[in-house]
Amino acid sequence: MFEKFCPRAIAHTLAEIDPQVLMERGIRGVILDLDNTLVEWNTTLYGKGVRSWLESAQRAGLELCILSNSTAKRVSRVTTELKIPGLGRAVKPWGRSFRKAMEVLDTKPQQTAVIGDQLFTDVYGGNRLGVYTILLIPLSDKELVTTRCVRKLERWLLSYFRSRGMLKGVV
Ligand SMILES: [Mg+2]
Repeated sequence: MFEKFCPRAIAHTLAEIDPQVLMERGIRGVILDLDNTLVEWNTTLYGKGVRSWLESAQRAGLELCILSNSTAKRVSRVTTELKIPGLGRAVKPWGRSFRKAMEVLDTKPQQTAVIGDQLFTDVYGGNRLGVYTILLIPLSDKELVTTRCVRKLERWLLSYFRSRGMLKGVV
C-alpha cells in the first residue's frame, strides 16, 4: 500500500548521494527539485555543499535539470547562475513536467533519478513514471503553510515505510 509514495532511496544531504553510484545504476540524468532541495525555501541561499555536489555530478557524467513548481522567473535566476537547465511552474506531480525534464536530459525513465524533498510532488511524480526517486530531508522548515500541513501526512507515511523496512539509503 502507498508504494507510489515511497522513495526508492532517502538521503539527509546531497553529499550522501554519490554521483558515481548513480552512474553505476545506469542513471544518466538527474531531475532536481529547487526549494528546500538546492536552496532554502523561497530564497537563493544554497544549501551547504550544493554547488560542489552539482559540479561533481557533472564531472561524473550526469546531466542535470531543475524542475520546480516555483515561478519561471525564480527558476531562471538559479539556472542562469548555476548554468544548469531548468523548468519552472512544473505543477509536479504532473507527469508532463517530468517528461519535459527528461526531454531536456535526453534520458529514458530508467536512466533518470529525481532528487526532491516532497513525497507528494517529487517522489510520487517520479515513481509513477518509473524514475529512480531519492527523497532528500528538507534544507529548512520554512515553507508554504499548505506544505506544512502536508508534512504531517508525509511524516505518517515515512514512519509507515520505516516500520516496514522500506526506506533505504542510496546504494
Ligand atoms: Mg521542494
